Amino acid sequence: MKRYSGKTVYKGIQMGPVFVLKGKESQVKRVRIEDAQAEIERVEHAVRKAQEQLQRLYDKAVKEVGEASAAIFEVHQMMLEDEDYLEAIHNMIRTEMVNAEYAAAVTGDNFSEMFANMDDEYMKARAADIKDISTRLVNNLTGNEDTDFESKEPMIIVADDLTPSETVQMDKEKILAFVTVHGSANSHTAILARMMNIPALIGVPLDLDAIHTGMYAVVDGFQGEVIFEPDEETRADAKERIEQEQEKLRLLEELKGKENVTLDGRKIQIYANIGSVSDVAYVLENDAGGIGLFRSEFLYLGRDQFPTEEEQFQAYKQVAQMMAGKKVIIRTLDIGADKQVDYFNLGREDNPAMGYRAIRICLTQQDIFRTQLRALFRAAFYGNLSVMYPMIISVEEVKAIAAIVEQVKAELEQDGLPYRIPEQGIMIETPAAVLISDELAKLVDFFSIGTNDLTQYTLAIDRQNEKLDAFYNPHHKAILRMIQMVVENAHKAGKWVGICGELGADRELTEWFVRIGVDELSVAPSMVLKVRKAVREIRISDGSISG
Ligand code: PEP
Ligand code: MG
Repeated sequence: MKRYSGKTVYKGIQMGPVFVLKGKESQVKRVRIEDAQAEIERVEHAVRKAQEQLQRLYDKAVKEVGEASAAIFEVHQMMLEDEDYLEAIHNMIRTEMVNAEYAAAVTGDNFSEMFANMDDEYMKARAADIKDISTRLVNNLTGNEDTDFESKEPMIIVADDLTPSETVQMDKEKILAFVTVHGSANSHTAILARMMNIPALIGVPLDLDAIHTGMYAVVDGFQGEVIFEPDEETRADAKERIEQEQEKLRLLEELKGKENVTLDGRKIQIYANIGSVSDVAYVLENDAGGIGLFRSEFLYLGRDQFPTEEEQFQAYKQVAQMMAGKKVIIRTLDIGADKQVDYFNLGREDNPAMGYRAIRICLTQQDIFRTQLRALFRAAFYGNLSVMYPMIISVEEVKAIAAIVEQVKAELEQDGLPYRIPEQGIMIETPAAVLISDELAKLVDFFSIGTNDLTQYTLAIDRQNEKLDAFYNPHHKAILRMIQMVVENAHKAGKWVGICGELGADRELTEWFVRIGVDELSVAPSMVLKVRKAVREIRISDGSISG
C-alpha cells in the first residue's frame, strides 16, 4: 500500500483499477530482429486492432458530434488499408531486420513528411492523419494503448499531465477519477474534471514508472490522497465512504424541481457550464435552469481541421433543442492560452495567456468568426439561444463585433436561410472591461463575469502556473469589489448579470452574490444542486463581505 498527497480539484471518492496514460513523446527504439515474418504478423495484428478502435471511435463520435465530424475516423480506417503504406512498413522490416514499432514509426514520419510537402492543401492536411495512424499502430505494438481505454471498464486515469484536448476526447463514462503529477487547479483540465463530476487530484508526486495499468487504487478528493494497492481495511473504509457520498447525492436529488429561492424569497438563476453536446445530459440530470456557458472552443479541440458551419450549426441546434426553451448561452471561440489546436497555427508565444486568444483571433481571422456566427444565428432559430463574446477589453471591440454581426445577418438574409439574431452579451473577465463596464453595459444585452481570468489578470497570476496556486485568491478584495461594480453598472443600464467562472459555485460567497443582486450563477453541472441547497438555506442578513 502506498499513499501520495496532492491538490484536490474535485471532491469525491472513488476506487478501482488504474490506467496509466503515458506521454506521447515516448521514444521508439530500433531493435534488430531475427524473424521478419513474426514482426510482420505483429504489424497485421496491430492494424486489425487499430481498425476496431477506429470503428468504436467512429460510432461514439457519430452519437456525440454527428456524422460529419466522425468522418475523420473513417478516413483513418481507409488510410490504414493503404497498400503503399503497409508495404513500406513490411519492406523495412524485411530488408533492415528491424522491429515492427520502429518500422511503423519511421514509415509514418516519412509518409507524413511527403504529404506535408505537397502543394495541394487537402493532401498537406493529411500529414497529421498519417502521423495519427502511425502513432496508433506504434501504441498498439508497444502495448501503450492510450487511445484504446474506452473499450475497458471504468478506470482511474493516472498521467503526468493532461491537456484539455486529451481530456475532452475521453469517454467520461469510463473514468472513475483523474490523478496527475502536474497541472494547475485553475486550468481547463481541472475545469473539465469538475464538469464531469469526477474526483481529481493534481500535483501528486508520483514516480510514473512505478505505477502500472491494472494496479488498484483509491482516490480520495476529500483528503487529497491517492492510495495504490490499498489493504483490506482501506478498501472497506473507502467503500463505506463511497456509499455515504452516494447517499448525500441522493438527498440532493430531492432538490430537483425546486426553486432557487432564499428563505426570505430572493431568487437567483442557477445554470450550468458545458463543453460539448454530450454534456447536456449532465445539465438535464442535475436540473439546471439553463446553460450559462457553453465553451464552444471544445468543438475545435481534439481534431485536425476546423469544424464546418454545418457541423457547428448541428451541434448548437442540438443543444438548443435538447434544452427545450431553456436559455443556452454559447460563448464564441476562446482558443489560445492553454487551449491550443495545431491547425490554428497560432505559433509559440512567450506569454500566451496575455497573447493572441479568443476575440482577438476572431477579430483578426474573421472568416473563422463569421463561420461560427452564421452557425450560431442559424441555430438560434430553433431555440432559446444567446451568444456571448470572451476576453473583451474595449468599446471598440464590441462595436467591431456588432458590425460583423450586421454583415453576417445580411449574408444569411441573402442566402434565404432561417436565422435569428439572438440576445448578445459579453464576458467580463479583464480588469479593463470591469472599469468601463458602465459604457459596455449600454452596448450589450447582458454580462457574464469570468472570475477565472478576472482573477488571473487582476492579481497578475498565471492560472496555469501550479507554483502560484497558493497565491491565486479569487476572494481577494479587489475581485469582490470588481464583481460588485460590474453588477451595479449592469443594473444601472437595465441589463442582467451572471457569473460563469468557477467562483460562481463557491458556497462561501453564495449569500453575498444573492445580496449584491447577481442574477445568475453558472456552475459545473455537478454543483447545481449543491448551490441550490445553499441558496435555499440563506436568510439575507445585514452582515457584509467587504466589497
Ligand atoms: C473565466 O475566465 O472565468 C471563464 C469562465 O472562462 P474560461 O475559464 O473558459 O477562461
Ligand atoms: Mg476566461
